[in-house]
Amino acid sequence: MSIEIPIANPLIGDEEIKEVVDVLKSGFIAQGPKVKEFEEEFAKYIGTKYAIATSSGTTALHTALLAIGVTSGDEIITTPFSFAATGNSILFTGARPVFVDIDPKTFNIDPEKIEDAITDNTKAIMPVQLYGQSVDMDPIMEIAKDHNLKVVEDAAQAHGALYKEKKVGNLGDIACFSFYPTKNMTTSEGGIITTNNKELADIAQSIRAHGESKRYEHYILGYNFRMTDISAAIGIAQLNKLDTFNNKRIANAEFLNNNLKDIDGIVTPKLQDDSKHVYHQYTIKVEKGNRDDWIRFLNDNGVGTGIHYPIPIYKQELYQNLGYTDRLLESERAANTVISLPIHPSVTKDNLNKIINVLKEASDKFS
Ligand SMILES: *Cc1c(COP(=O)(O)O)cnc(C)c1O
Repeated sequence: MSIEIPIANPLIGDEEIKEVVDVLKSGFIAQGPKVKEFEEEFAKYIGTKYAIATSSGTTALHTALLAIGVTSGDEIITTPFSFAATGNSILFTGARPVFVDIDPKTFNIDPEKIEDAITDNTKAIMPVQLYGQSVDMDPIMEIAKDHNLKVVEDAAQAHGALYKEKKVGNLGDIACFSFYPTKNMTTSEGGIITTNNKELADIAQSIRAHGESKRYEHYILGYNFRMTDISAAIGIAQLNKLDTFNNKRIANAEFLNNNLKDIDGIVTPKLQDDSKHVYHQYTIKVEKGNRDDWIRFLNDNGVGTGIHYPIPIYKQELYQNLGYTDRLLESERAANTVISLPIHPSVTKDNLNKIINVLKEASDKFS
């Protein structure tokens, strides 16, 4: 059977199409006035003073790390249970990612394990707001303050998520979002940096455009990490729909939570206290049978799935070749037991009921 309920489905409507056509007709198709407008609206949405749009979430992370002064020999503490871009963006700067294990309940970096990983070379902590849920940030900010470290949020999956009434992306020194098509909102490819620090915002803007202070005057080494006005136009239309999209994801997730929690062998997502999860991914753990058999069964019955993520970053061949020998047990256990289920805004009640029924059958089948 083909996949009837895909794991992701970017929703592009007439609004996005109209915005893009307007840009194409305007003559400004690289970075121009639409990028500026998108940055202002995104900063307002997150509640930060500044936003700097980039070509991807990865280039946003790379730029943010450079902006806080990360350089060769520095160490950045982060989670191995994330997309490879989290670790790779650290490698781009010449610094070394230092991986700390996750809390198995939330899948996010375990704040209690961070302090042991701090050395004289530690420059920053980079928590990932995984699946759309904030890390417990208060202890992380406290550790950072005690040890004079910067905090860079990898908020690539958490547009609109809250931690204690504040939006994710407004919790550390600087934060990065991705607008890849599977994320909670898209610009096709794209990313953005948010911060309240004017100095960091200014440096990030320069790094994005060849280290320019003004046109054709270059004071540092930068890159071409610019977003185009075409992408920004999509982003403006998508940002208007973000809360609606997120509310649909949350409603879908709550329906699944209520109907999956009593199925034997399935562990439903745990919520962080005082926070709002926006369910970039709805990820369960299976605690009986073999995870890959569950996946095959779901796929054979038309239900799309994802594994976020099957290999901890330090176990990737690239990192093995760099000499990483970590064995972080919670991250490895999660990598072997997680399954992401379709939760995006176009998933219908019928789709959800089908997912639930297929999972009930799978639970009976596997032991
Ligand atoms: C998507 C993602 C990125 C990278 O974003 P791109 O836009 O794909 O470059 C980085 N970190 C995390 C956690 C992500 O999910």
